[in-house]
Amino acid sequence: MDGIALYRDNGLMSASLEQRRHLATAIPGPRSIELMARKLAAVAQGVGTTLPVFAVEAGGGIVKDVDGNSLIDLGSGIAVTTVGNSAPRVVDAVREQVEAFTHTCFMVTPYEGYVAVAEALNRLTPGDHDKRSALFNSGAEAVENAIKVARAWTKKQAVVTFDHAYHGRTNLTMAMTAKSMPYKSGFGPFAPEVYRAPMSYPYRDAAFSKEGAVDGELAAHRAINVIEKQVGAGNLAAVVIEPIQGEGGFIVPADGFLPAIAAWCTANGVVFIADEVQTGFARTGAMFACHHEGVVPDLIVTAKGIAGGLPLSAVTGRAEMMDAAHISGLGGTYGGNPIACAAALATIETIETDGLVERAREIGGLMLDTLHRMQADDDRIGDVRGRGAMIAVELVRSGTDEPDADLAKAVATAAHQAGVIVLTCGTYGNVLRFLPPLSISDALLTEGLDVVATALTGTRA
Ligand SMILES: *Cc1c(COP(=O)(O)O)cnc(C)c1O
Repeated sequence: MDGIALYRDNGLMSASLEQRRHLATAIPGPRSIELMARKLAAVAQGVGTTLPVFAVEAGGGIVKDVDGNSLIDLGSGIAVTTVGNSAPRVVDAVREQVEAFTHTCFMVTPYEGYVAVAEALNRLTPGDHDKRSALFNSGAEAVENAIKVARAWTKKQAVVTFDHAYHGRTNLTMAMTAKSMPYKSGFGPFAPEVYRAPMSYPYRDAAFSKEGAVDGELAAHRAINVIEKQVGAGNLAAVVIEPIQGEGGFIVPADGFLPAIAAWCTANGVVFIADEVQTGFARTGAMFACHHEGVVPDLIVTAKGIAGGLPLSAVTGRAEMMDAAHISGLGGTYGGNPIACAAALATIETIETDGLVERAREIGGLMLDTLHRMQADDDRIGDVRGRGAMIAVELVRSGTDEPDADLAKAVATAAHQAGVIVLTCGTYGNVLRFLPPLSISDALLTEGLDVVATALTGTRA
């Protein structure tokens, strides 16, 4: 049996955790309710909760809680545990590193792991030009550093992002993020020189023009027009885009949109930055989502799936651009922590050795089949979209394209109560998104989607 077949039939083999959905109590159970009360009394309420059960163990396609409930994981901790929770190679690498040393600060006395991660990123990211990488802790921090690099290289200041974009919660990345609630409301003023361009959103663009919705070049022309008129290439340091938008609703732009935007950037001395924090590392059935359209970004930002759950992020890009920042202009106390680097190397080895890019494509095929069948029976599923193990359904009021956030919430809540972790997203809050770990078995994945289908049917009553 090859590696992928092993995953397909059994999920992650060496997980000691039984790969079975099982409800021992109501969701949440009594221990979780107790812990939730402690959370409310101790943790700022601004830090929200999707599913009020407290985890004790996770692996393969299962998250187990303090009350003995085993839930099917269709969220991967928001696209982080792509290789699975406590993936065996990651656990071994972390254990070995934590016993050797936990921190020296790479800027004080460097260590090999950081360099090896940079080499791996330079090798794996799109394009065979000369590259350099720098490591950080979070996605938002890496996005900020990509902007620093672009400004240092271009000696220009403006930044363009898109409708429905999500880039993080720090001050600059709040400015870059589109959605006010819950990310920005009341937290301004925001960083200046950030401008917004219209995105290609095929499902919603169809309301204006059926042909336009699927014509990526036309959508790019619309965006470029806004950029040229409202910002001007002479002021513009960088265009930042998620090749498939994550929090904004798993929006896959029409074919040709990304290449046209990238080409315009190249022709106009503007740095093209791909934010692949959510789409990177096999998630979409390619090592990076830019590969699907042959787009080669000047800089690429990665995080989430990079290190099997440990906090790590990176900016990788053209050597001359990355080296435009002066010596000691980039860095941070913890950036590229040795334990996180060991985890990243083990994660990359797992993706490459176990054929997880291929596995993500299989998972995508299975999910799209199931969800398209659901859509054929239910006109409240307005759109099914995504790539690889990053798939979503957009829910609308019957027979319209009016977003139905209440329905998305009701379905998610019912799925949670039945023991399936599913997340919502979208500018209109009406998108159910599926981000299973690639270590999930076909059986668990199918069962998880069946539970979601039942939850959706149940809302008709
Ligand atoms: C999650 C996310 C970020 C922010 O990453 P953090 O690690 O939460 O700071 C940035 N961009 C995209 C596309 C993301 O999905």
